Amino acid sequence: MKPLIGITASLDHTQIRVQRENSDAVLQAGGLPVIVPYIEDEQAIRQLASRLDGLLLTGGGDIDPFLFHEEPLPHLGSITPERDLLEVLLVREMLFQDKPILGICRGCQILNIAAGGDMYQDIYSQSEKPLLQHSQRAPRYHVSHFVDVQKGTLLHRITGEEKLKVNSFHHQAVRKLPEGFRVAAASTDGIIEAFDSREHAFVLGVQWHPEDLYVKHPTMLQLFHAFVTACSAK
Ligand code: MN
Repeated sequence: MKPLIGITASLDHTQIRVQRENSDAVLQAGGLPVIVPYIEDEQAIRQLASRLDGLLLTGGGDIDPFLFHEEPLPHLGSITPERDLLEVLLVREMLFQDKPILGICRGCQILNIAAGGDMYQDIYSQSEKPLLQHSQRAPRYHVSHFVDVQKGTLLHRITGEEKLKVNSFHHQAVRKLPEGFRVAAASTDGIIEAFDSREHAFVLGVQWHPEDLYVKHPTMLQLFHAFVTACSAK
């Protein structure tokens, strides 16, 4: 049986939307994707987590700073409180059950927040040093900046690379990771671009969008393969 992998979506007024590249990548890697709808009932979220074999947290809009005990700064973008709430509860339950999680872009940020970390609401106005262009204007499949991969991390084990070139579509970023999590890759300006958990079987967050790269870049397909393999293990 293929592992059942929940894919979170964005909420656009009353429409649930997800870029098909996410479900395509999961299918390509051998998983069975299902789109997660909006659920507020905590018991229902726990039951959903019990049935899923893994969770793919997709990209999207900004995150409510209230979730990391801040008030909104001027450069915060649009937030979707219902999405934040569902994802925080679902992530916490998946972590509790030690089920695999792959967080992409916004997904890595909400994963970090749900686990107790904090983040930049806007890297450009909050960073003290000059930054690279993290909201690339090149096409989504184009890799625009480097990240240095830390040896011994999940990302390093999967890719075998110490340097990767990635795409970049974010103005928010992870700032502080919770205990048990560690930096797996950073860009040359010091922004955290990937992390994993030392305390879970497979918890990986990446700030870039591998779902837009895997067709042209086999290394990015390896991320989905490793994730789906981990989801098959239980
Ligand atoms: Mn970036």
